[in-house]
Amino acid sequence: MSFDASSLANAVLRQLQAYDPGHDLPALRAKFGGQLAELGSNENVSGPSPQVYAALQGAMPEIIRYPDPRGMSLKRALARHLGVATDAIALGNGSHELLILLAQCFADSQTSIVHSEFGFAVFPIATAVAGARAIRVKAMPADHAEAPYGHDLDAMAAALRNDTRIVFLANPNNPTGSWFDDAALERFLAQVPSHTLVVVDEAYREFVDVSGSGGAMPLLDRFPNLVVTRTFSKAYALAGLRIGYLVAHASVVAVIERLRESFNVNAMALVAAEAALADQAHLQTSCSNTRRERQWLAQQLGERGFRILPSQTNFLLLDLGRDAAALERQLFERGVIVRPMGGYGLAHTLRISIGTRDENLRLLESLP
Ligand SMILES: *Cc1c(COP(=O)(O)O)cnc(C)c1O
Repeated sequence: MSFDASSLANAVLRQLQAYDPGHDLPALRAKFGGQLAELGSNENVSGPSPQVYAALQGAMPEIIRYPDPRGMSLKRALARHLGVATDAIALGNGSHELLILLAQCFADSQTSIVHSEFGFAVFPIATAVAGARAIRVKAMPADHAEAPYGHDLDAMAAALRNDTRIVFLANPNNPTGSWFDDAALERFLAQVPSHTLVVVDEAYREFVDVSGSGGAMPLLDRFPNLVVTRTFSKAYALAGLRIGYLVAHASVVAVIERLRESFNVNAMALVAAEAALADQAHLQTSCSNTRRERQWLAQQLGERGFRILPSQTNFLLLDLGRDAAALERQLFERGVIVRPMGGYGLAHTLRISIGTRDENLRLLESLP
């Protein structure tokens, strides 16, 4: 008699699949050595502040203890940095965990969650985990001048229902690289009733340099149903430590605290994030390097005849106009890892993270 627990999984999980990492990266690193160009996961190749390494060394003796379950030292530093109160902040094992927690805490099978077609992949997963009804709103058209494949905020506002508990927005969005400005967000928030939380995922916020796009944080005072999530994984270059945060009305944070695992953020992540936050000069240098490299790479790819979508992030979306699997395969065989986007319904595109100049050159040389 064969045993298969998949039929025992709860109704929600029967609809879900495990994360597909794309490639076995540890095996590939062993095979290609230093020759692998890892442009698939939007990591920051500039690395974190050197002070992070010193802080991690200093914290070594602490690993025998449980971490501070409230993460107070980091919260105080974040509160100072952002100009908010510590009780407006929740810490997560990456912002991924916080997105899931938000859905679990505020939605259920009697409610709905609104997100955009081509929005960040965690949004539909969080919706499914909560057992909520997903309302997926059609994105901007492919040939839209400013935000191809981007969020259509007017259509999203029109899609809200009485039972909608959460709207997930990503600004800028992964994988499209698209963004919307502060005025558009404010117009959107003005149309959302207070019984619907508007979650703005700002994982790439630090890379944004267009005018009129300062981010959602200043709107928190006026819109108590606004939630902003951020991460140390991207611009702060701490993806391996898994730490992110959200800022919201204290009562939103208080609900999340009921479900959050007490020690969800580990001791090393807490000290590293605090050290990284303290070195804003390093962050600025790192982000301006990324922006410069982004512009250079977009131009190089454009000169080779590829359509590159506008991006305010640390990656580019290449729109091949036909199935991109063969191109992805060809790059892979030359040790250049990029991310195919078939899972998003964008099989004709590839997402390419900004690497070091050497890696970006490897990419260009590996193109047909
Ligand atoms: C990378 C990313 C995150 C951050 O994930 P972490 O769990 O904090 O590493 C969140 N949102 C978007 C849109 C992302 O691309």
